[in-house]
Amino acid sequence: MTIARIANWIGGKASQPHRDAWLDKFNPHDAALLCQFADSDAADVERAVSAAALAFPAWAELPPVARGQILMRIVDAMKHHADDLAKCIAVETGKPPQDAKGETAGAILLAEYFAGEGMRLFGRSLTSGMPGKYSHTVRKPHGVAGLIVPANTPIANIAWKTLPALICGNSVVLKAAEDAPRIAQLFAEMTRDAGLPDGVFNVVQGRGQLAGAALVTDARVSVVSFTGSTCVGRWIAETAGRRLARVSLELGGKNPFVVCDDADLDEAVHWAALSAFSNAGQRCAAGSRIIVFKSVYERFREKLLARVASLKLGVSVGCDLGPVMNRRQQQAILAAVERARQEGGRVLCGGAAPQEVDLAAGCYVQPTLIEGLALEAELSGKEIFGPVAVLYEVNNLEEALALANASEYGLTAAIHTRDVDRAMWFAQRVWAGVANVNMGTFGSEPHMPFGGFGASGNGTREPGVEALDVYSELKNISFLVRSKLIHSARGDTI
Ligand code: NAD
Repeated sequence: MTIARIANWIGGKASQPHRDAWLDKFNPHDAALLCQFADSDAADVERAVSAAALAFPAWAELPPVARGQILMRIVDAMKHHADDLAKCIAVETGKPPQDAKGETAGAILLAEYFAGEGMRLFGRSLTSGMPGKYSHTVRKPHGVAGLIVPANTPIANIAWKTLPALICGNSVVLKAAEDAPRIAQLFAEMTRDAGLPDGVFNVVQGRGQLAGAALVTDARVSVVSFTGSTCVGRWIAETAGRRLARVSLELGGKNPFVVCDDADLDEAVHWAALSAFSNAGQRCAAGSRIIVFKSVYERFREKLLARVASLKLGVSVGCDLGPVMNRRQQQAILAAVERARQEGGRVLCGGAAPQEVDLAAGCYVQPTLIEGLALEAELSGKEIFGPVAVLYEVNNLEEALALANASEYGLTAAIHTRDVDRAMWFAQRVWAGVANVNMGTFGSEPHMPFGGFGASGNGTREPGVEALDVYSELKNISFLVRSKLIHSARGDTI
């Protein structure tokens, strides 16, 4: 059987890696070899950046409305191929089909929003202290954008960065995620079919430390937008920051989910389970710290355990969660749970790989709830990026807030209460870029700014109009109207 090979995408067509080196991509559900993808190195990245640099001036010169019209054709292609995209996501990531479809629909909506931005790329008009002076601001692209994404929500991650970068007039080199190589290629093919000029969008496949690092260090890349782990984000900020490139970092989270004593417990359980375990917990916005008022702790825990026991693992329609992305990630999660046990944590459910015949070969982790961990325990502080959540008991809202804020991360937070005063008090004070009341810790929309405080990012926000600040430079243009040069019909100066 021939195994498909996913090459890079440079200058509008597939491009073989120059060393002819390839990496294996396995299906996380059953460990079968799915395909191979290019193990690109600095020379491949150099070619992709050169193609992007060559295509940049003409793309930047195109009026934003015209850029938006081309991007709208990419949206059409995504709609037309929505089923192919969803199927590809489901196979590459092990996501149940309905989740893969939901992610695809979200990515299309986001793409549509940014294509429409071609008609809205607003500046401001400004007043002046000088008579006859008129000022306004315009947005200018940076040049080549280096975009680096993880595989957890692969098409959403690609659309999230690519569309705003393109509408602002940048050309793009995307470093695809190792665990989702084919989806990046599918998207690239759609950009070609939509008539995006060759070289405006390029993809390099391969490893982060080789291909990704080469993209970050290339001096021609003037904006680097990265979604991934905090430790890699720190290195990128340092490296690209040294040459004063614009850097946008969307990093990890250890997000608190607070349940007050007046919460609707069934609703809270529903959202807690989704926050902690949907997408197999592989969300930066996963609710991995569940903080519950003492007076309802036992009842909430019982209901949550019942809900978790009903969750179905697998990749067929209706399953609640699939496997995690790869074997390394599965083993790292299980090892972290083992260390939590040694630190005194009580594993209330899960904590192992499932043994059912149809799941045993895959990279599955049972949904896991742990209680009894101290604040200093590893799992209280470290992001796990898997279906593992820790339960904590608190006496009141002040304690809940203090615990919620006891993290280096500050990405998202949720609170469940019927009391508007408690909700607003908490939402205003929680150390997070996103605060949700009576919902999950996730759920951003294309027009809403998303991003975190502290170790969750570097202060930028994507998507929403705020993403335009990442992908464009602001220029202030001023005119002086010289009245004395204007003559009336009689020839007088007016
Ligand atoms: P990761 O940091 O290991 O990898 C992310 C991407 O960066 C991959 O494409 C990888 O190849 C690349 N990369 C790795 N090392 C690199 C380097 N030295 N230079 C350049 N690129 C490099 O993260 P992951 O395990 O794939 O993803 C999980 C992380 O992503 C979690 O921390 C999660 O919270 C975070 N995440 C954040 C958001 C957000 O919006 N804040 C969204 C999704 C995921």
